[in-house]
Amino acid sequence: MTEAAQKTPLHIAPRTTAPKTWQQALADAVTNVPDLLAAVGLSDRADELCAKPSARFPLRVPRGFIARMRHGDANDPLLRQVLPSSAEDLPVTGFGPDPVGDLASEHCSGLLQKYQGRALLITTGACAVHCRYCFRRDYPYGDSAITHSKLDAVLEHVASDRSIRELILSGGDPLSLSDDRLRQLLKRIGEIGHVERIRIHTRQPIVLPERIDADLCATLENAPRPLVIVIHCNHANEIDATVTPALQRLAACSQALLNQSVLLRGVNDSTPALVELSETLFASGVLPYYLHQLDPVTGAAHFAVTDAMARQLVREAAHQLPGYLVPKLVRELPGEAAKTPV
Ligand SMILES: *Cc1c(COP(=O)(O)O)cnc(C)c1O
Ligand code: SF4
Repeated sequence: MTEAAQKTPLHIAPRTTAPKTWQQALADAVTNVPDLLAAVGLSDRADELCAKPSARFPLRVPRGFIARMRHGDANDPLLRQVLPSSAEDLPVTGFGPDPVGDLASEHCSGLLQKYQGRALLITTGACAVHCRYCFRRDYPYGDSAITHSKLDAVLEHVASDRSIRELILSGGDPLSLSDDRLRQLLKRIGEIGHVERIRIHTRQPIVLPERIDADLCATLENAPRPLVIVIHCNHANEIDATVTPALQRLAACSQALLNQSVLLRGVNDSTPALVELSETLFASGVLPYYLHQLDPVTGAAHFAVTDAMARQLVREAAHQLPGYLVPKLVRELPGEAAKTPV
């Protein structure tokens, strides 16, 4: 790297440096508030903008995602999703550590079964980004990949339950696993005859597009069952020229490529933001799936949008979009047999 390139400000780094491997991009993520604020030109407002993140859910954000934030704008919709706020420390009635009843639906350690025909496997606790509103921010699964012995037990359970037609790889982010572990996992799932589909829930195509490299695509193309890939993108600005090719590659190796978003105050709680998100997703080969009402997890109350407002936003967006670009507005309620329409 030339000296000039090294001195290039962070916010334009991806356009001026050689492509990184995904492991390098992951290792290079920003993990503290001062570095993040410096990268977006907000160092002088540090006192006013944020509190220290708790040790349990520290700040983490890849530099490529930071590069898509507007410089000097404390209200940037991408920055707001990752910057810890002092509001996180306020206790709010109705917000708790296990908002969607995950602990009660864990039939065997690492496997959540809430809905008929589907089971959700917690493959790892690790994510490339830490979203401040995350519904699993307090879930006690640490950062590590599922152990081999736990995985054996989970797959044995899946093999014994013929009602499971679709296995969902989730986390954390399942693409945090190495290609080797993913290949092994897919192969072993393929040995269970009654699992007809494999779904992958991941935010990495958005926050770490470097992850969607040739090796991963080869792994996914060779999956033993049709794949459904559900990404997580909340705002059109999250998709730029580094992300679109990654999404197009995923579209090519999956049966369906869908997006889920969370409705977040100050991020995407406007009709134009929702319309633009759907249009931008479609342009990259992705269809909207769910728009989630926020799960009431401790520390996220400042992101909440009222149901009345949420309904109005989706109604207005539906007046400007074809039906297939309108996401379903849902919330997850403990004990329900499906996500509940709002
Ligand atoms: C959300 C969720 C699913 C998937 O539900 P779909 O409506 O099929 O997308 C499956 N299992 C669990 C535990 C979930 O939380
Ligand atoms: S990527 Fe998903 S699981 Fe990870 S912190 Fe963000 S919302 Fe939570």
